[in-house]
Amino acid sequence: MSARPTDPRAMTGSPADEATLRETGDDTGTPVGCTQSVDVLVVGAGLAGLTTAKLLAQQGHGVLLVDRRTTLTGAIRTTGIFVRRTLDDFQLPADCLGPPIRRVALYPPSLRRPVMLESARDEYRVGDMGPLYVATARAAVEAGVRLVLGTRYVGRHGDTFFMAGPAGPVRVRARFVVGADGARSRVARDLGLDRNQHLLVGAEEVFEVPRTEEPPTFHCVLDPSLAPGYLAWVVNDGQHAHVGVAGYAHRFHGGLHRTMQRFGETAPGLNGIDRPDEVERRGGPIPVGGVLRRIACFEGLLVGDAAGAVSPLTAGGLDPCLRLSEHAAAVIDDALRDGRTDALSHYDGATLRARFRGRLMLRRALAQVRTPAMAASAFTLMRTPPGLAAARRILFGDRSFPDPS
Ligand SMILES: Cc1cc2nc3c(=O)[nH]c(=O)nc-3n(C[C@H](O)[C@H](O)[C@H](O)COP(=O)(O)OP(=O)(O)OC[C@H]3O[C@@H](n4cnc5c(N)ncnc54)[C@H](O)[C@@H]3O)c2cc1C
Repeated sequence: MSARPTDPRAMTGSPADEATLRETGDDTGTPVGCTQSVDVLVVGAGLAGLTTAKLLAQQGHGVLLVDRRTTLTGAIRTTGIFVRRTLDDFQLPADCLGPPIRRVALYPPSLRRPVMLESARDEYRVGDMGPLYVATARAAVEAGVRLVLGTRYVGRHGDTFFMAGPAGPVRVRARFVVGADGARSRVARDLGLDRNQHLLVGAEEVFEVPRTEEPPTFHCVLDPSLAPGYLAWVVNDGQHAHVGVAGYAHRFHGGLHRTMQRFGETAPGLNGIDRPDEVERRGGPIPVGGVLRRIACFEGLLVGDAAGAVSPLTAGGLDPCLRLSEHAAAVIDDALRDGRTDALSHYDGATLRARFRGRLMLRRALAQVRTPAMAASAFTLMRTPPGLAAARRILFGDRSFPDPS
């Protein structure tokens, strides 16, 4: 285990808020042209990168975490719905979670006669993702991670990694690199690992809503003219509304943003609520081809979306982020302690992928729903007792990302 180049807290201070964290991005602490050495370079400070970096630093390793974003609260790419299994198994900051949701409404294209599903348990909570990233980053920095924002990873040569920061080029030598750089991972490409080929794109608008008597509800619309191959949604938890669509990019007639606008005009679950002029916009690609087979090599590994760790059916990636990051940190910890270069071979995407067969089949079925008439027929089946049981299993089931260890 190499010594940390400098005490990270000496460089970053003890970040109390997002402003303090952002300041860490103004300077890498290393003069331009010099090469610094770390145990692990983590590229990408989404949930996967933040979690992996934090766990590695807690194990005593020197970690540099870089992100091209200049602030953790901007350019958010998720609705932030956490499922019950995640809420049960991980300690997320309670003040960054919205009210529990127990009710799901599934709508056919006509939006008439939704199928209403009610659970006896709290099934979902929507994360306030900006503050949640900041809280996780704060824990990471307190554990010793050196966080540098506004810095883009651009390539590597051997064990030297190149970044473009606000003050110019940055070179870092690292024993291992972690690609937590999202669905279109540059790190995956440079390490010669598998890359996501099967992607949806999603976009949503987020705005505050007034409190009403309506219970928090997750509204899903199955209409391929709005969401080809996936769903359009409104999550209204009584604090915020998230109104979004996702699907295969080439199947959006008129484009994703026009479709989003069209959905906004008829979106269910917003009775009496006017969309404000100013809304937060989110969006990005969603890998739905299942966990990639080759996600590690001697030099590093992939986590989160970069590893394709997203449920192919529900497109949920937050639970997989947390579970795979724990596994990644354990494997790298072993490798750094034992000095064995083959330790990362235990990080095996093919084994995980095998446990996704059922979900991949259902993804293919959902992709085949190509017309509103087909979606309406699917509702006829869903209204039968076996159809309702299947919908409950998918939406309220106990399954999550398989335990990677
Ligand atoms: C619209 C939408 C809604 C979603 N809603 C949900 C949901 O409600 N629940 C759920 O479970 N899942 C949801 N998902 C999926 C889930 O959000 C993702 O699976 C998860 O956030 C992935 O986290 P990540 O850390 O792997 O990637 P990201 O959050 O994408 O983070 C990657 C980071 O890498 C940085 N980066 C990229 N390239 C570079 C580079 N070259 N140099 C430096 N930094 C770089 C980016 O700036 C980014 O911060 C949604 C996805 C989308 C697109």
